[in-house]
Amino acid sequence: MRARIAAACAEADRDPAEITLIAVGKGIAAGRVAEILALGVTELGENKAQEAATKAADIASLQPEPAARWHFIGQLQRNKARIVTGFASMVHSVDRPALVVALDRAAAPRRQPLEVLLQLDLDPNPNPDPTRGGADPQDLAALADAVLGVEHLTLRGLMTVAPPGVDARRAFDRLVGYSQVLQAIQPSATVISAGMSGDLEAAISAGATHVRVGTALFGARKLASEHRS
Ligand SMILES: *Cc1c(COP(=O)(O)O)cnc(C)c1O
Repeated sequence: MRARIAAACAEADRDPAEITLIAVGKGIAAGRVAEILALGVTELGENKAQEAATKAADIASLQPEPAARWHFIGQLQRNKARIVTGFASMVHSVDRPALVVALDRAAAPRRQPLEVLLQLDLDPNPNPDPTRGGADPQDLAALADAVLGVEHLTLRGLMTVAPPGVDARRAFDRLVGYSQVLQAIQPSATVISAGMSGDLEAAISAGATHVRVGTALFGARKLASEHRS
């Protein structure tokens, strides 16, 4: 995977040090996910709150060196905010004001603020799948203001999942455009989380800073783990 990222960076004339690889272990047992820490991949991603919390606790109990840092990348219900703020460093899937409020409240007891990304839905067609998540880009500024207005969240950037059936590169170019809009509001919100196993080259060439890779690292998983958390 490092070689694939390096090749994509060479092609795009970028420094591989600019890219953070997040290993997405959803549907994969804690023991196998932990093995990747030893390879130096310390950023781990999950998309279901309870599975993630259990796995994070299991892996923490192994006291790995280096330790893992957890990214929550799936759709999140408000009533599960507290599960996620218990283990995650960054939540990529903030897409509505009510979730901002719930995460802020849940993050209050933390020592560190919770880092958040705003997830945009860049599907040009009306979203047929409400479980996929993501905010309408028209709501970007309002959502950014909501995060900036609370105490326990830090606004770090944007995330998207390329919509099915459209050219991923075009979607990622749009995301990078919206990142510029966001950075005009909050200059430190520079993270661009885009690219998965199938489209990470397009994401890196568009300007992604974080790629979220599951299948290409761990192999195929059962479809059950794709569902809403
Ligand atoms: C599962 C998932 C990924 C990783 O997908 P792969 O195609 O297995 O690399 C990335 N982002 C999100 C939001 C996911 O749910």
